[in-house]
Amino acid sequence: MSFYDEITSIDIASYAKEVDSKTESEVFKAICRARNDEKLDLGDFMALISPKAKPYIKEMASLAHKYTRMRFGNGVSMYVPLYLTNLCTNNCKYCGFACHNKFSRRVLNAEEVELECLAINKMGYENILVVTGESEKRGGMDYFREMIPIVQKHASYLSMEVQPLDTEDYAELKTLGLDAVMVYQETYHPGCYKENHLSGKKTDMRYRMETPERLGDAGIDKVGIGALLGLYDWKADIIALARHLEYMRKHYWQTRMSLSFPRLRPAAGGFEPQYPVGDLEMIQIVCAWRLFDHQLEISISTRENQRFRDAIVPIAITAISAGSCTSPGGYAVNRADDLPQFIINDDRSVAEVTEALKQNGLEPIFRESRSSIVKQVA
Ligand code: SF4
Repeated sequence: MSFYDEITSIDIASYAKEVDSKTESEVFKAICRARNDEKLDLGDFMALISPKAKPYIKEMASLAHKYTRMRFGNGVSMYVPLYLTNLCTNNCKYCGFACHNKFSRRVLNAEEVELECLAINKMGYENILVVTGESEKRGGMDYFREMIPIVQKHASYLSMEVQPLDTEDYAELKTLGLDAVMVYQETYHPGCYKENHLSGKKTDMRYRMETPERLGDAGIDKVGIGALLGLYDWKADIIALARHLEYMRKHYWQTRMSLSFPRLRPAAGGFEPQYPVGDLEMIQIVCAWRLFDHQLEISISTRENQRFRDAIVPIAITAISAGSCTSPGGYAVNRADDLPQFIINDDRSVAEVTEALKQNGLEPIFRESRSSIVKQVA
Protein backbone atom coordinates (compact mmCIF):
# COMPACT_ATOMS: atom_id res chain seq x y z
CA MET A 1 0.00 0.00 0.00
CA SER A 2 1.54 3.32 -1.04
CA PHE A 3 1.33 6.45 1.09
CA TYR A 4 -1.21 7.85 -1.38
CA ASP A 5 -3.51 4.88 -0.66
CA GLU A 6 -3.09 5.41 3.08
CA ILE A 7 -3.70 9.13 3.24
CA THR A 8 -6.54 9.32 0.75
CA SER A 9 -8.48 6.74 2.77
CA ILE A 10 -8.79 9.41 5.50
CA ASP A 11 -10.50 12.79 5.47
CA ILE A 12 -7.53 14.89 6.57
CA ALA A 13 -9.85 17.69 7.70
CA SER A 14 -10.38 15.49 10.78
CA TYR A 15 -6.70 16.04 11.69
CA ALA A 16 -7.32 19.75 12.13
CA LYS A 17 -10.24 18.99 14.49
CA GLU A 18 -8.10 16.52 16.43
CA VAL A 19 -5.35 19.15 16.82
CA ASP A 20 -7.85 21.75 18.03
CA SER A 21 -9.29 19.32 20.59
CA LYS A 22 -5.96 18.71 22.34
CA THR A 23 -6.15 19.57 26.06
CA GLU A 24 -3.70 21.40 28.28
CA SER A 25 -2.80 18.17 30.06
CA GLU A 26 -1.99 16.49 26.73
CA VAL A 27 0.27 19.44 25.87
CA PHE A 28 1.93 19.20 29.27
CA LYS A 29 2.52 15.47 28.79
CA ALA A 30 4.15 16.10 25.38
CA ILE A 31 6.34 18.86 26.84
CA CYS A 32 7.45 16.57 29.69
CA ARG A 33 8.37 13.85 27.21
CA ALA A 34 10.32 16.38 25.13
CA ARG A 35 12.13 17.62 28.26
CA ASN A 36 13.10 14.04 29.10
CA ASP A 37 14.35 13.41 25.54
CA GLU A 38 11.70 10.71 25.03
CA LYS A 39 10.41 9.76 21.56
CA LEU A 40 7.25 11.75 20.79
CA ASP A 41 4.34 10.13 18.95
CA LEU A 42 1.90 11.71 16.52
CA GLY A 43 -0.53 12.54 19.37
CA ASP A 44 2.23 14.49 21.14
CA PHE A 45 3.04 16.31 17.91
CA MET A 46 -0.62 17.24 17.49
CA ALA A 47 -0.64 18.60 21.03
CA LEU A 48 2.46 20.72 20.37
CA ILE A 49 0.94 22.44 17.33
CA SER A 50 -2.43 22.93 19.05
CA PRO A 51 -3.75 26.28 20.37
CA LYS A 52 -3.31 25.01 23.96
CA ALA A 53 0.47 24.80 23.41
CA LYS A 54 0.83 28.53 22.76
CA PRO A 55 1.87 29.35 26.37
CA TYR A 56 4.70 26.81 25.97
CA ILE A 57 6.24 28.21 22.78
CA LYS A 58 9.18 29.77 24.64
CA GLU A 59 10.05 26.46 26.30
CA MET A 60 9.52 24.58 23.03
CA ALA A 61 11.97 26.96 21.32
CA SER A 62 14.55 26.45 24.05
CA LEU A 63 14.26 22.64 23.81
CA ALA A 64 14.29 22.75 19.99
CA HIS A 65 17.46 24.85 20.08
CA LYS A 66 19.09 22.36 22.46
CA TYR A 67 18.25 19.31 20.33
CA THR A 68 19.21 21.02 17.06
CA ARG A 69 22.65 21.92 18.39
CA MET A 70 23.11 18.47 19.91
CA ARG A 71 22.39 16.73 16.60
CA PHE A 72 23.79 19.21 14.04
CA GLY A 73 26.45 21.18 15.89
CA ASN A 74 26.57 24.84 14.84
CA GLY A 75 26.59 24.14 11.11
CA VAL A 76 23.93 25.52 8.78
CA SER A 77 24.01 24.26 5.21
CA MET A 78 23.89 27.04 2.59
CA TYR A 79 22.31 26.18 -0.76
CA VAL A 80 21.37 28.17 -3.82
CA PRO A 81 18.63 27.48 -6.37
CA LEU A 82 19.82 27.32 -9.98
CA TYR A 83 16.84 27.88 -12.28
CA LEU A 84 17.51 26.19 -15.63
CA THR A 85 14.17 27.11 -17.18
CA ASN A 86 10.95 28.92 -16.29
CA LEU A 87 9.02 27.01 -18.94
CA CYS A 88 6.06 25.15 -17.44
CA THR A 89 3.14 23.22 -18.90
CA ASN A 90 1.24 23.14 -15.60
CA ASN A 91 -1.24 25.63 -14.30
CA CYS A 92 -0.85 25.97 -10.53
CA LYS A 93 -2.95 28.86 -9.26
CA TYR A 94 -0.31 30.11 -6.81
CA CYS A 95 2.78 30.19 -9.06
CA GLY A 96 4.24 32.92 -11.28
CA PHE A 97 5.54 30.30 -13.74
CA ALA A 98 2.02 28.87 -14.41
CA CYS A 99 1.55 28.31 -18.16
CA HIS A 100 -1.27 30.86 -18.48
CA ASN A 101 0.97 33.73 -17.27
CA LYS A 102 2.26 35.54 -20.35
CA PHE A 103 5.93 36.43 -20.22
CA SER A 104 8.98 35.42 -22.19
CA ARG A 105 10.19 31.98 -21.17
CA ARG A 106 13.80 30.90 -21.20
CA VAL A 107 15.56 27.53 -21.34
CA LEU A 108 19.28 27.79 -20.60
CA ASN A 109 21.65 26.10 -23.04
CA ALA A 110 24.84 24.28 -22.03
CA GLU A 111 26.98 27.40 -22.29
CA GLU A 112 24.57 29.46 -20.19
CA VAL A 113 24.38 26.73 -17.53
CA GLU A 114 28.16 26.73 -17.31
CA LEU A 115 28.16 30.53 -16.86
CA GLU A 116 25.49 30.30 -14.15
CA CYS A 117 27.51 27.66 -12.31
CA LEU A 118 30.64 29.81 -12.45
CA ALA A 119 28.69 32.79 -11.07
CA ILE A 120 27.26 30.59 -8.31
CA ASN A 121 30.68 29.21 -7.39
CA LYS A 122 31.94 32.79 -7.26
CA MET A 123 29.25 33.51 -4.64
CA GLY A 124 30.85 30.70 -2.61
CA TYR A 125 28.26 28.00 -3.24
CA GLU A 126 28.94 24.35 -4.06
CA ASN A 127 25.64 23.11 -2.69
CA ILE A 128 23.41 23.59 -5.74
CA LEU A 129 19.67 23.00 -6.08
CA VAL A 130 18.66 22.67 -9.75
CA VAL A 131 15.14 24.02 -10.27
CA THR A 132 12.93 23.98 -13.36
CA GLY A 133 9.30 24.49 -14.24
CA GLU A 134 7.69 21.28 -15.45
CA SER A 135 8.08 20.66 -19.16
CA GLU A 136 8.61 17.17 -20.57
CA LYS A 137 9.56 18.36 -24.04
CA ARG A 138 12.19 21.02 -23.45
CA GLY A 139 13.00 20.43 -19.78
CA GLY A 140 12.73 16.64 -19.48
CA MET A 141 15.19 13.76 -19.24
CA ASP A 142 17.04 14.53 -22.51
CA TYR A 143 17.71 18.04 -21.19
CA PHE A 144 18.77 16.76 -17.75
CA ARG A 145 21.14 14.22 -19.34
CA GLU A 146 22.96 17.12 -20.97
CA MET A 147 22.84 19.65 -18.11
CA ILE A 148 23.30 17.64 -14.92
CA PRO A 149 26.91 16.60 -15.75
CA ILE A 150 27.74 20.30 -16.31
CA VAL A 151 26.27 21.31 -12.93
CA GLN A 152 27.88 18.31 -11.26
CA LYS A 153 31.37 19.61 -12.13
CA HIS A 154 30.62 22.70 -10.00
CA ALA A 155 28.73 21.07 -7.11
CA SER A 156 29.87 19.14 -4.07
CA TYR A 157 26.20 18.27 -3.43
CA LEU A 158 23.62 18.38 -6.19
CA SER A 159 19.89 18.49 -5.51
CA MET A 160 16.95 18.86 -7.87
CA GLU A 161 13.49 20.32 -7.59
CA VAL A 162 11.92 19.44 -10.94
CA GLN A 163 8.91 17.52 -12.21
CA PRO A 164 8.38 14.03 -10.74
CA LEU A 165 10.15 11.34 -12.77
CA ASP A 166 10.10 7.55 -13.02
CA THR A 167 12.32 5.35 -10.83
CA GLU A 168 14.65 4.46 -13.76
CA ASP A 169 15.13 8.14 -14.56
CA TYR A 170 16.16 8.90 -10.98
CA ALA A 171 18.52 5.92 -11.00
CA GLU A 172 20.11 7.22 -14.21
CA LEU A 173 20.44 10.78 -12.84
CA LYS A 174 22.10 9.35 -9.75
CA THR A 175 24.86 7.93 -11.99
CA LEU A 176 25.29 11.45 -13.41
CA GLY A 177 25.82 12.97 -9.96
CA LEU A 178 22.37 13.59 -8.47
CA ASP A 179 22.38 13.44 -4.65
CA ALA A 180 18.98 14.71 -3.50
CA VAL A 181 15.49 15.46 -4.79
CA MET A 182 12.92 17.80 -3.28
CA VAL A 183 9.32 17.09 -4.22
CA TYR A 184 6.70 18.95 -2.27
CA GLN A 185 3.11 17.78 -2.18
CA GLU A 186 1.79 21.34 -1.76
CA THR A 187 -1.40 20.02 -0.05
CA TYR A 188 -2.51 16.55 0.99
CA HIS A 189 -6.20 17.40 0.69
CA PRO A 190 -7.49 15.95 -2.63
CA GLY A 191 -10.21 18.60 -3.09
CA CYS A 192 -7.87 21.50 -2.44
CA TYR A 193 -5.17 19.89 -4.61
CA LYS A 194 -7.62 19.66 -7.50
CA GLU A 195 -8.78 23.22 -7.01
CA ASN A 196 -5.25 24.65 -7.17
CA HIS A 197 -3.75 22.48 -9.93
CA LEU A 198 -5.86 23.26 -12.92
CA SER A 199 -4.10 21.54 -15.82
CA GLY A 200 -0.96 19.67 -16.81
CA LYS A 201 0.72 16.56 -15.45
CA LYS A 202 0.76 17.90 -11.91
CA THR A 203 -2.99 17.25 -11.74
CA ASP A 204 -2.04 13.57 -11.17
CA MET A 205 -1.95 13.70 -7.38
CA ARG A 206 -1.09 10.00 -6.98
CA TYR A 207 1.97 10.20 -9.26
CA ARG A 208 3.29 13.21 -7.36
CA MET A 209 2.64 11.77 -3.90
CA GLU A 210 4.31 8.45 -4.73
CA THR A 211 7.47 10.22 -5.96
CA PRO A 212 9.36 9.98 -2.62
CA GLU A 213 8.80 6.21 -2.76
CA ARG A 214 10.24 6.02 -6.29
CA LEU A 215 13.20 8.08 -5.07
CA GLY A 216 13.74 5.67 -2.20
CA ASP A 217 13.57 2.75 -4.67
CA ALA A 218 16.16 4.49 -6.88
CA GLY A 219 18.53 4.83 -3.89
CA ILE A 220 18.71 8.63 -3.92
CA ASP A 221 20.70 9.84 -0.89
CA LYS A 222 18.25 12.47 0.37
CA VAL A 223 14.55 13.13 -0.27
CA GLY A 224 12.83 16.36 0.64
CA ILE A 225 9.09 16.42 1.25
CA GLY A 226 6.88 19.31 2.20
CA ALA A 227 3.65 21.24 2.02
CA LEU A 228 2.89 24.76 0.91
CA LEU A 229 1.29 26.31 3.97
CA GLY A 230 -1.70 28.49 3.19
CA LEU A 231 -3.35 26.43 0.45
CA TYR A 232 -5.42 24.40 2.92
CA ASP A 233 -5.89 24.28 6.70
CA TRP A 234 -2.26 24.12 7.83
CA LYS A 235 -3.00 21.87 10.83
CA ALA A 236 -4.39 19.17 8.52
CA ASP A 237 -1.53 19.47 6.03
CA ILE A 238 1.16 19.46 8.75
CA ILE A 239 -0.22 16.25 10.27
CA ALA A 240 -0.51 14.62 6.83
CA LEU A 241 3.11 15.64 6.24
CA ALA A 242 4.11 14.08 9.58
CA ARG A 243 2.42 10.86 8.53
CA HIS A 244 4.26 11.00 5.20
CA LEU A 245 7.55 11.38 7.06
CA GLU A 246 6.71 8.43 9.32
CA TYR A 247 5.83 6.33 6.26
CA MET A 248 9.14 7.15 4.58
CA ARG A 249 11.13 6.52 7.78
CA LYS A 250 9.47 3.11 8.12
CA HIS A 251 9.79 1.95 4.49
CA TYR A 252 12.97 3.76 3.40
CA TRP A 253 14.97 3.94 6.60
CA GLN A 254 18.26 4.28 4.68
CA THR A 255 17.11 7.50 2.96
CA ARG A 256 17.94 10.86 4.55
CA MET A 257 14.82 12.98 4.86
CA SER A 258 14.48 16.73 4.79
CA LEU A 259 11.46 18.89 5.24
CA SER A 260 10.26 22.21 3.93
CA PHE A 261 6.95 23.92 4.65
CA PRO A 262 7.11 27.37 3.07
CA ARG A 263 4.34 29.83 3.66
CA LEU A 264 2.59 30.84 0.46
CA ARG A 265 3.54 34.20 -0.93
CA PRO A 266 1.46 36.34 -3.28
CA ALA A 267 2.27 35.51 -6.93
CA ALA A 268 1.56 36.82 -10.44
CA GLY A 269 -2.12 36.64 -11.37
CA GLY A 270 -3.22 38.22 -8.07
CA PHE A 271 -3.05 34.99 -6.05
CA GLU A 272 -3.43 35.46 -2.28
CA PRO A 273 -3.15 32.60 0.27
CA GLN A 274 -6.54 31.41 1.60
CA TYR A 275 -5.26 30.13 4.96
CA PRO A 276 -2.45 32.48 6.07
CA VAL A 277 -0.10 31.25 8.81
CA GLY A 278 1.07 33.83 11.39
CA ASP A 279 4.68 34.22 12.55
CA LEU A 280 4.01 32.82 16.02
CA GLU A 281 2.22 29.79 14.57
CA MET A 282 5.12 29.24 12.19
CA ILE A 283 7.60 29.28 15.10
CA GLN A 284 5.37 26.84 16.98
CA ILE A 285 5.28 24.50 13.96
CA VAL A 286 9.07 24.58 13.44
CA CYS A 287 9.76 23.91 17.14
CA ALA A 288 7.20 21.09 17.25
CA TRP A 289 8.91 19.42 14.28
CA ARG A 290 12.29 19.52 16.00
CA LEU A 291 10.87 18.01 19.20
CA PHE A 292 9.05 15.35 17.15
CA ASP A 293 12.13 14.33 15.14
CA HIS A 294 15.60 15.37 16.32
CA GLN A 295 17.33 14.05 13.16
CA LEU A 296 15.18 15.90 10.69
CA GLU A 297 16.80 18.33 8.28
CA ILE A 298 14.62 21.43 7.98
CA SER A 299 15.16 24.13 5.37
CA ILE A 300 13.78 27.62 5.08
CA SER A 301 13.77 29.68 1.91
CA THR A 302 13.92 33.37 1.04
CA ARG A 303 10.11 33.43 0.97
CA GLU A 304 10.46 34.29 4.69
CA ASN A 305 11.63 37.76 5.67
CA GLN A 306 14.95 38.71 7.23
CA ARG A 307 13.63 39.22 10.77
CA PHE A 308 11.84 35.90 10.85
CA ARG A 309 14.74 33.96 9.32
CA ASP A 310 17.28 35.45 11.74
CA ALA A 311 15.03 34.44 14.64
CA ILE A 312 14.11 30.91 13.55
CA VAL A 313 17.37 29.65 12.00
CA PRO A 314 19.33 29.26 15.29
CA ILE A 315 16.41 27.41 16.88
CA ALA A 316 15.84 24.53 14.48
CA ILE A 317 16.85 25.15 10.85
CA THR A 318 19.60 23.13 9.17
CA ALA A 319 19.60 24.56 5.62
CA ILE A 320 18.91 27.98 4.13
CA SER A 321 19.25 29.73 0.80
CA ALA A 322 20.55 33.28 0.37
CA GLY A 323 21.14 35.61 -2.55
CA SER A 324 18.57 33.57 -4.52
CA CYS A 325 17.43 34.48 -8.00
CA THR A 326 14.39 32.77 -9.61
CA SER A 327 15.20 33.93 -13.17
CA PRO A 328 17.05 31.43 -15.40
CA GLY A 329 20.44 32.98 -16.18
CA GLY A 330 20.00 35.61 -13.45
CA TYR A 331 23.25 34.99 -11.55
CA ALA A 332 25.47 35.60 -14.59
CA VAL A 333 23.32 38.38 -16.13
CA ASN A 334 20.96 40.78 -14.32
CA ARG A 335 17.37 39.68 -15.12
CA ALA A 336 15.56 42.07 -12.79
CA ASP A 337 12.70 42.50 -15.28
CA ASP A 338 11.74 38.81 -15.38
CA LEU A 339 8.50 37.63 -13.77
CA PRO A 340 9.50 35.84 -10.53
CA GLN A 341 8.16 32.41 -9.50
CA PHE A 342 7.24 33.97 -6.15
CA ILE A 343 8.16 37.16 -4.32
CA ILE A 344 11.46 36.90 -2.47
CA ASN A 345 11.12 38.31 1.04
CA ASP A 346 14.75 38.27 2.17
CA ASP A 347 16.87 39.94 -0.48
CA ARG A 348 20.07 40.27 1.55
CA SER A 349 23.34 39.30 -0.11
CA VAL A 350 25.10 36.05 0.75
CA ALA A 351 27.70 38.03 2.74
CA GLU A 352 24.99 39.74 4.82
CA VAL A 353 23.21 36.45 5.61
CA THR A 354 26.54 34.78 6.43
CA GLU A 355 27.38 37.62 8.82
CA ALA A 356 23.98 37.31 10.54
CA LEU A 357 24.56 33.56 11.01
CA LYS A 358 27.98 34.15 12.51
CA GLN A 359 26.58 36.73 14.91
CA ASN A 360 24.23 34.00 16.12
CA GLY A 361 27.20 31.69 16.74
CA LEU A 362 26.44 29.58 13.65
CA GLU A 363 28.79 28.29 10.98
CA PRO A 364 27.66 28.54 7.35
CA ILE A 365 28.55 25.43 5.32
CA PHE A 366 28.84 26.07 1.59
CA ARG A 367 30.27 22.70 0.71
CA GLU A 368 28.05 19.83 1.76
CA SER A 369 28.93 16.20 1.24
CA ARG A 370 26.62 13.25 1.71
CA SER A 371 27.22 12.93 5.42
CA SER A 372 28.71 16.27 6.46
CA ILE A 373 25.55 17.99 7.63
CA VAL A 374 24.61 15.53 10.35
CA LYS A 375 27.20 15.86 13.08
CA GLN A 376 26.43 13.44 15.86
CA VAL A 377 27.60 15.69 18.64
CA ALA A 378 25.53 13.94 21.29
S1 SF4 B 1 4.52 25.32 -9.07
FE1 SF4 B 1 5.92 24.22 -10.44
S2 SF4 B 1 4.56 23.02 -11.73
FE2 SF4 B 1 3.28 24.59 -10.82
S3 SF4 B 1 3.27 26.26 -12.31
FE3 SF4 B 1 4.94 26.65 -10.86
S4 SF4 B 1 6.74 25.81 -11.81
FE4 SF4 B 1 4.97 24.92 -12.85
